Amino acid sequence: MKLETLAIHAAQEPEAATGAISPSIHLSTTFERDSDGEFRRGYEYVRSGNPNRNALEQCVTQLEGGAETVAFSSGMAAVQAVLQALAPGDHVLLPDDCYYGVRALTQGPLRRWGMRHSTVDMTDLDQVRASLQPDTRLVWVETPSNPLVKVVDIAAIAEIAHAAQAHCGVDNTWATPVLQQPLRLGADMVMHSSTKYFGGHSDVMGGTVTVAEQGTWLQRLRECQTEAGAVLGAFDSWLTLRGIQTLAYRIRAQCDHAAALAAYLAEHSGVSDVFYPGLTTSPYYHLSSSQMAAAGGMLSFCVKGDSAQAMRVAAKAQLIRRATSLGGTHTLIEHRASIEGPDTQAPANLLRLAVGLEHPDDLIEDLAQALA
Ligand SMILES: *Cc1c(COP(=O)(O)O)cnc(C)c1O
Repeated sequence: MKLETLAIHAAQEPEAATGAISPSIHLSTTFERDSDGEFRRGYEYVRSGNPNRNALEQCVTQLEGGAETVAFSSGMAAVQAVLQALAPGDHVLLPDDCYYGVRALTQGPLRRWGMRHSTVDMTDLDQVRASLQPDTRLVWVETPSNPLVKVVDIAAIAEIAHAAQAHCGVDNTWATPVLQQPLRLGADMVMHSSTKYFGGHSDVMGGTVTVAEQGTWLQRLRECQTEAGAVLGAFDSWLTLRGIQTLAYRIRAQCDHAAALAAYLAEHSGVSDVFYPGLTTSPYYHLSSSQMAAAGGMLSFCVKGDSAQAMRVAAKAQLIRRATSLGGTHTLIEHRASIEGPDTQAPANLLRLAVGLEHPDDLIEDLAQALA
């Protein structure tokens, strides 16, 4: 079945007892044993399994074409689980403009725990090869990247990682399986902040990791989920799965709207740069055209002038909301350098747009008055 159909039907059979099309939310924290002490119905205690969470995990597994998915209470809990599956002393190669939360995690708690990391521009494959160390065990890819919307060749990086006996993990939050399926391109695991496009309405936090095959890594992720306990709750699982049902259609509209906004901004005299891989002038145009079904709903642009000028433009936005995050129905604008802090890669005059589902004409009108 196609992704659109899987999003609605995978692990979402009508309930046996009632015929309910929309699944019940199972709030029970504990489940009854059979008289012989077994748990034949598969559930024991909520930290190790809940019907809503299991359904979400199975659905995401099918959307990504993987072997199994583990759902966590946030995207960062999912990243933490992936990194803690490594041994202290192992080295991780990260993209130079990776999500700032991942950078903060690797520079703080995981460094104290003994994980080593370095960063590299992953659009330069020679640099990636040169940055591998004998004990590099994981190469972490984020594409398109934040906030410069760079596109990385997943198949090439996976091959380089495997040749060095390392795994390749991809943060697929921005693209979603609608636009690219990293496991089919050779990656070993794919992670999502389901807070973003999966949930889709800015009202639920969560994270998932899907592995390409069963094995040690999956076992450690499960351990981290059920022993460390950063599990996704029943209602959050339910909301996320409901969001996924419309994922493909939301993403398509968001890609169309982002393309329209990027084209408008590229022609605007108050804008010095637009970062969107769907523009034919983008250095990532060809790679994104072959790797992705469309160029995504995220773009950044630099206003002519300094940080204060960028802040003034954001301040004038009316329909477009000044807020962080992405993937929801509302279009959001953000001065990225302010939220990322001193070691940001974002230019001071950069604004990031997370494009939503409003009509693009209204969004363009708002940008026009904000830039005027
Ligand atoms: C938001 C985000 C994360 C972190 O996820 P949370 O759900 O906020 O913990 C990781 N990677 C990317 C690309 C994100 O956008």
